[in-house]
Amino acid sequence: MAPSHVLRCCQRALNWIPVLFINLVVGWSYYAYVVELCVYTIPNNAERISYLVIFHIFLTMFVWSYWKTICSRPAAASKAFGLPRAEKELYEREERAETQQEILKKVARDLPVFTRTAGGAIRYCDHCQIIKPDRCHHCSTCEMCVLKMDHHCPWVNNCVGFSNYKYFVLFLAYASLYCVVICATVIKYFIKFWTKQLPDTHAKFHILFLFFVAALFFVSILSLLSYHLWLVGKNRTTIEAFRAPVFINGQDKSGFSLGFKRNVAEVFGDEAKYWIFPVFSSLGDGLSFVTRLVHIDPEQANSVLQHNGKRPTVSVTMESGP
Ligand SMILES: [Zn+2]
Ligand SMILES: [Zn+2]
Repeated sequence: MAPSHVLRCCQRALNWIPVLFINLVVGWSYYAYVVELCVYTIPNNAERISYLVIFHIFLTMFVWSYWKTICSRPAAASKAFGLPRAEKELYEREERAETQQEILKKVARDLPVFTRTAGGAIRYCDHCQIIKPDRCHHCSTCEMCVLKMDHHCPWVNNCVGFSNYKYFVLFLAYASLYCVVICATVIKYFIKFWTKQLPDTHAKFHILFLFFVAALFFVSILSLLSYHLWLVGKNRTTIEAFRAPVFINGQDKSGFSLGFKRNVAEVFGDEAKYWIFPVFSSLGDGLSFVTRLVHIDPEQANSVLQHNGKRPTVSVTMESGP
């Protein structure tokens, strides 16, 4: 086996450490809550059962959305974004960057691509050999171009993008609610232990740590959740928040924003009944997006909107960019 291959395998194994850490913490929290708190500490049967029911509901939603975020393969661009064979040969033979750009421009004319590099060039990935769809970025960890890439998250050992962004936001939301449930139900016994109203057993330390760990996780997750909810409302990815997308007519950080309601629907879908569950309900195909199509060739704009199954009228009702 080549040394580089061994190294890559080791790296892949190491990448699972943060996921393992989260799972160990959740596993321990389960033991501490169910066994040490509910079985050994809570004397009242009705209280014990109601705590266990609420705890298991939030745990299920949290673990479900967490594993959906981990297991969803990042969405890749379709074959249509690759260069046709003749153009590819021409592109590879060509050494001058300007002529290569001409080849890319010719191919991109038939694609729903509105964003450009900072220098105004067509966004092309040499590694994946595709014209990058709007909002798509190459992830060096996943070694592929990921549709509507948000960021590569080590805590889920996966890219967060078009295929799992909804799951990721739900994971953050349910993780914070899981912590809230633990803190809110544990605090009473936490105080009782420290005011010596309960016998001094080893459960005391589990309950003490359970409260502190849940509170600590809640504070850190809440800031991340608030940030992502803000991004959803603005229809912006983390990458776009740091570097505004460049359109044919220049940079526009709100280029994909279609109004709050529509922005939320882009991630969570049109039907409210699916919003709280980690099932796929995001709108579109991740390859093309409705933009605030200002100063863009109306023919190309209309073909993109039809491709998306969205009404072309959107393009004329958009406010103008900065
Ligand atoms: Zn790529
Ligand atoms: Zn990645």
